[in-house]
Amino acid sequence: AKEAGKNTYQFFAAEMNAQAIERLQLESGLRQALERGEFELHFQPIVAAETHRLEALEVLLRWRHPELGLVPPVRFIPLAEETGLIRPIGDWVIRQACRQLADWDCLGLHVPRLAINLSARQFEQQALIVQVAGALAEAGIAAGRLELEMTESMVMQNPCEAVSLLGELKALGVRLSIDDFGTGYSSLSYLKRFPLDTLKIDRSFIEGLPGDGDNAAIAEAILAMARKLSFSVVAEGVETEAQAAFLSAKGCQLLQGYLFSRPLPAGELTAWLRRQTP
Ligand code: C2E
Ligand code: CA
Ligand code: CA
Ligand code: CA
Repeated sequence: AKEAGKNTYQFFAAEMNAQAIERLQLESGLRQALERGEFELHFQPIVAAETHRLEALEVLLRWRHPELGLVPPVRFIPLAEETGLIRPIGDWVIRQACRQLADWDCLGLHVPRLAINLSARQFEQQALIVQVAGALAEAGIAAGRLELEMTESMVMQNPCEAVSLLGELKALGVRLSIDDFGTGYSSLSYLKRFPLDTLKIDRSFIEGLPGDGDNAAIAEAILAMARKLSFSVVAEGVETEAQAAFLSAKGCQLLQGYLFSRPLPAGELTAWLRRQTP
């Protein structure tokens, strides 16, 4: 038994070691990824429930690591947040996204809006206002075509500061959206304190619709509340026709998920846009 314990320990230590090595590899790589041009943006359509017309694209960051291949954000965003690298990276995302939108405009391909994810660390800073305003001006994009997605916990961490920061962003003319709605903060009072436009129902509540009675009740309740408070609502993670039909029947106007398209790199999205507008 002692031997077995020791083996388990050694196995565990080796496993830990591999994780630590990967972390180090990612962390040192992350520092250079920006200058080496290893980040790329993918874009996922958000469509109108009734017409399936494109309403917005969510911008999703990817890292093309020279040895590890395409690294998904769950594996490097937390690290980027811990190291503070998320600030320059987030700045790049906003600028690059605006440039891409201007490129599609030039091609005559109509993308009404982009939705960009913010991290808590970007949200702490007044610099965000300058970054957003700068990126819009540089690309010549109207502020109303940009929507910033943030989580409930981000705005509730420091509600007083959030009120002023969100007020300034709103004054610029950008739209504000709560991501993963329903999974974070337990009080809803913030919904009337902040100048929000959109709620994104978290994918965990979309799963199993319409059969899952609990999720159906939650989704319906969110939609009813959002209607009364005049928020627009996006359902995330829509994968089946049955989910889309249920959500549409319950008044959800915007849908996003693999049913319509996976997140695509700019080139493939350009082809997708051409198919939409023949
Ligand atoms: P999120 O903002 O909730 O983004 C939605 C995630 O769900 C994306 O994962 C997307 O690929 C995935 N998804 C979309 N449709 C479906 C579907 O029908 N089924 C399933 N199973 N999944 C679907 P992704 O791209 O891996 O991003 C994960 C998270 O990383 C994002 O969650 C967001 O929190 C973060 N993230 C991505 N890009 C950025 C960024 O530029 N900045 C920051 N701060 N965070 C980002
Ligand atoms: Ca998001
Ligand atoms: Ca989300
Ligand atoms: Ca999420």
